[in-house]
Amino acid sequence: MSDDCIFCSIVAGEIPSRTVYETDDVLAFLDANPLAPGHTLVIPKSHHEHVQDMPNDLAGDVFAVMQRLVHPIESAVDADGSTVAFNNGEVAGQEVPHTHGHVVPRFEDDGGRPIHSIFGERPELGDDELDDIAASIADGAE
Ligand code: 5GP
Ligand code: ZN
Repeated sequence: MSDDCIFCSIVAGEIPSRTVYETDDVLAFLDANPLAPGHTLVIPKSHHEHVQDMPNDLAGDVFAVMQRLVHPIESAVDADGSTVAFNNGEVAGQEVPHTHGHVVPRFEDDGGRPIHSIFGERPELGDDELDDIAASIADGAE
């Protein structure tokens, strides 16, 4: 548990939340300021700031809960689909520094856009740059 972390306080029961599902390691609850009805957050119960800070197994557990909840969430609010995403890092819009996945129900006429719409102009990358980037990622993933 991290002091001054809202989500750690929710896990500890110090701040109320509308819990929809939990396991020993993962908690899912309704977002307090939802982008759509049914907007749900899924967090590890232990404090990790970023996606990559979680142990591999825990990251799998968090995603498994997100995947399990998609259908119940969509059914509960009669949604047509959902955006399933993490804001990872302050620069990416992460406001609460305890990693959390969003499941945001989507509706045919909700006026929302795809994740691609977050970004501006696409970078022009040559084949050599793409090869270098791919090789560098592959090295790091070893
Ligand atoms: P972020 O921008 O960090 O990806 O998303 C943080 C989310 O947490 C926001 O959607 C915000 O509405 C939600 N949130 C912030 N504080 C609380 C809280 O105390 N309780 C709940 N349930 N949600 C919160
Ligand atoms: Zn925390």
